[in-house]
Amino acid sequence: MVVTRFAPSPTGYLHIGGLRTALFSYLWARKNGGKFLLRIEDTDKARNSQEAAEAIVKAFHWLGLEHDGEITYQSQRDDIYAIYVKQLLDEGKAYRCYMSREELDTLRETQMANKERTKYDGRYRDFDGTPPEGVDSVIRIKAPLSGEIVVKDGVKGDVLFRAEDILDDFVIARADGSPTYNFVVAIDDHLMGVTEVIRGDDHLSNTPKQIVIYEALGFEIPMFYHVPMIHNSEGKKLSKRDGATDVMAYKEMGYTPAALLNFLVRLGWSNGDQEIFSMSEMMELFDPKNINRSASIYNTEKLDWLNSHYLKNTPNHELAKMLEEYNLAITSHDKKEILLDAIKERAKTLKEMALLVSEMINPPISYDEKALEKAFKGEAVEVLNNFTAKLSSAKELHLPSEYHHLMQEVVDEMGIGFGKIGQPLRVALLGKMSGPGLDSVMAVIGVDETIARVKSALALIK
Ligand code: GLU
Repeated sequence: MVVTRFAPSPTGYLHIGGLRTALFSYLWARKNGGKFLLRIEDTDKARNSQEAAEAIVKAFHWLGLEHDGEITYQSQRDDIYAIYVKQLLDEGKAYRCYMSREELDTLRETQMANKERTKYDGRYRDFDGTPPEGVDSVIRIKAPLSGEIVVKDGVKGDVLFRAEDILDDFVIARADGSPTYNFVVAIDDHLMGVTEVIRGDDHLSNTPKQIVIYEALGFEIPMFYHVPMIHNSEGKKLSKRDGATDVMAYKEMGYTPAALLNFLVRLGWSNGDQEIFSMSEMMELFDPKNINRSASIYNTEKLDWLNSHYLKNTPNHELAKMLEEYNLAITSHDKKEILLDAIKERAKTLKEMALLVSEMINPPISYDEKALEKAFKGEAVEVLNNFTAKLSSAKELHLPSEYHHLMQEVVDEMGIGFGKIGQPLRVALLGKMSGPGLDSVMAVIGVDETIARVKSALALIK
């Protein structure tokens, strides 16, 4: 069975880069009928892991990604890690090192002066004397001194590390007994039954150390997929300013889960030149073997494009539900269908859409001066008066086309072009020259409100 995991350190929120590897892991597990697990790497106890876990679960929930089983918290597993420390000590695969801070500093300074790689020199590796007094020992693993460690990586191919270049007998448990990062990651991945580790390639340098742990403990090594970073348009690491922020900020900005997930799956993965992927298509097509080898470029226009694509193609009843959070007025509006049809092609985000809703259903707060001047020339006042007269005597109007028909009658009777009614009416109803189709605006606000808005605008002219 394929078991993947997402293993964030509790930074308090889920960011876009993390979400992408989470999505990849999720898709691969689901595609294979496997499991997608969540582990909070909260060994740094100063940070609040509960809050972080909640933030992540909340973001997952918004996006429709659910993890399987209970969340694993590293902070609650010290007893488990201690068992493995003891095992390695008992088997002679790890040892106590009594080097003091000062001795370590001296060693490092000498190595730096000799232009050597700074590393532990192994002085307690085979020590069987009497330990020095007053030094709390750390526990170090006996790492290979020579040879190669091969990371079998599904994205990068085999990555070879020379043991002597990167390894020393690294610490697995500190003087206070607390286990170190790479040690617990390897143990947890094994105990959680993780078969495939998909994570950012900023972790590639940790992997040989984790492999040393796997081998020492006789664990089977999982398959690794180290995913290249996301870069901004200048080719630099994505910063907060570029969009590397809390995933929930994307919700606030009005992006839909479908668009965001589609955007992310294409950051570093492709299937020919296909751009649009539904969740079920992603699940069917995703394969970590096709993760790109080079960094991907974050592109806001692409996200906007995808978002408008999804907005356009979301059925109105679903769209109304999504919009509720941004503009409650939509909930009980009886002309929801006409309203949404009029704006769904015009907005890049739900937030923009919500703004269009209020601009439509509320009278203009102010009028664009230039638009007023331009539109209220010549026969504009007469045109509008004729139009409101027709509206008043019309019985009931419902459809945009019925309003359109009345507008047409006015211009036909006056022998003028359609623009002569369109422009002043638009400014009267919306306060500006731009916006959704007038027929729809009127059908949404109704006859009385249309007349009221025209009258307010006319009063302003006088
Ligand atoms: N906790 C690490 C991070 O948040 C991820 C470790 C891993 O995926 O192995 O970057």
